[in-house]
Amino acid sequence: MDQTRRDFVIAAGAAGTGGGGSPKEEAHQHSHQDVPSDLTLRVKALESLLIEKGLVEPAALDALIDTFEHKVGPKNGARVVARAWVDPAYKQRLLSDAPSAIAELGFRSGQGEHMMVLENGPKVHNLVICTLCSCYPWPVLGLPPVWYKSSAYRSRAVIDPRGVLREFGLELPDDVEVRVWDSTAELRYLVLPERPAGTEDFSEEQLASLVSRDAMVGVAKVAAHGDAQ
Ligand code: FE
Repeated sequence: MDQTRRDFVIAAGAAGTGGGGSPKEEAHQHSHQDVPSDLTLRVKALESLLIEKGLVEPAALDALIDTFEHKVGPKNGARVVARAWVDPAYKQRLLSDAPSAIAELGFRSGQGEHMMVLENGPKVHNLVICTLCSCYPWPVLGLPPVWYKSSAYRSRAVIDPRGVLREFGLELPDDVEVRVWDSTAELRYLVLPERPAGTEDFSEEQLASLVSRDAMVGVAKVAAHGDAQ
């Protein structure tokens, strides 16, 4: 755990056990602080309690968070996409049994036991959301970005997906069907974007370097020079 995070857990724990001054003093302090959200406080309070009661090892929590913040990220997903682009047999396995095909490349962890890969095409564009919270395919994309967890994205992407995509800079022709997929804790999705034209001579590694996180959530396309709008 980095020092800032560690300090915050300690502070949240102290706040949760009533270690403050009078309500007047607290109100005064709060007016000078950037108070974390209720959810953040609840998570931190829970974490500090679990540690205090010896139910979790702080080192194990640190390792878990470090893994998903720094070691697992969209690059794993980009490697999966690039492999599917160059290897038709792999692509078939990926579309029929995503967790197994993803595990073939060595990506296997919690929050990814049940996954489905959605293939974009000239007439179909897939968009992934989680209306309830922030379910996301951790083994291939790491932790979800802030906008994915925002209530604006979660609600508006269902009501007006084309409008939301437009705000991301992606204008889709009217004859392209937009499919919105609602992730759950039981089933998470990864978009397989279209391979861009002009990349026929690219190596698998070069192809992987073009694939962005946003393209694998479905809010962007991939172009030969990177994200396309
Ligand atoms: Fe969720």
